[in-house]
Amino acid sequence: METKQLYLYDSYQRDFVAKIERVNGNEVVLDQTIFHPLTGGVSFDTGFIENGCDKRAVLRVEINRDTKEIAHIVENAEGLKTGDTVGGSITWDRRYRLMRLHTTAHLIAAVMYRYHDARITGGQVDPDQAKMDFNLPRTDREVFEDAVAKANIEVQKKTQLKIYFLNRDEALKIPGIVKLAERMPPDVKDFRIVEIPGIDLQADGGPHVSNTGEIGEISLVKIENKGKTQRRLYFTVK
Ligand SMILES: [Zn+2]
Repeated sequence: METKQLYLYDSYQRDFVAKIERVNGNEVVLDQTIFHPLTGGVSFDTGFIENGCDKRAVLRVEINRDTKEIAHIVENAEGLKTGDTVGGSITWDRRYRLMRLHTTAHLIAAVMYRYHDARITGGQVDPDQAKMDFNLPRTDREVFEDAVAKANIEVQKKTQLKIYFLNRDEALKIPGIVKLAERMPPDVKDFRIVEIPGIDLQADGGPHVSNTGEIGEISLVKIENKGKTQRRLYFTVK
């Protein structure tokens, strides 16, 4: 059964209450969760679920792409059973870094496309740093230094993000997201849209900050060549 993904509605929610749907070894499936699983190029949350005064560490969170069921891999699931009500809380420092780095990734991808005609081909946001792969024939370090500088200007503008849901038909009417919409599986009826006004608009399921000003200072960590036209950028935030 699909787990209700509470993190889609509020990236800032730190705790919640849920019912256990299933326990399988150290995997606990709840009816709803604020824990973001490893998906969409963004790492998972860690934290705790608790049953009375009994705290269990959540070490990893995974989503089944087909069933949309989310499994919380806990240190010890002993004594937890189907139907129990549990409380849960995420490790906020880790989540907030994921949010700041994820919104940064959208800024950099938008700037790289707009000013350097470079398309993103992959990426991964982890709590300490993020990496992004671009299709870029040139190896110039200046291109990435420029992109980070331009992204930092967007941070200083303190732009408020807009996160909203659109049904498929409404989404397809918006110029620019048609390409993204076509990539979506046909059974997706509602699109979660993440808009950084004036910069970027994407169908996206990950946690973000609500204002670019929360990102702080972005810095370039390193650049790697991954073949003839593939460049990998590592960056972080303070
Ligand atoms: Zn994203």
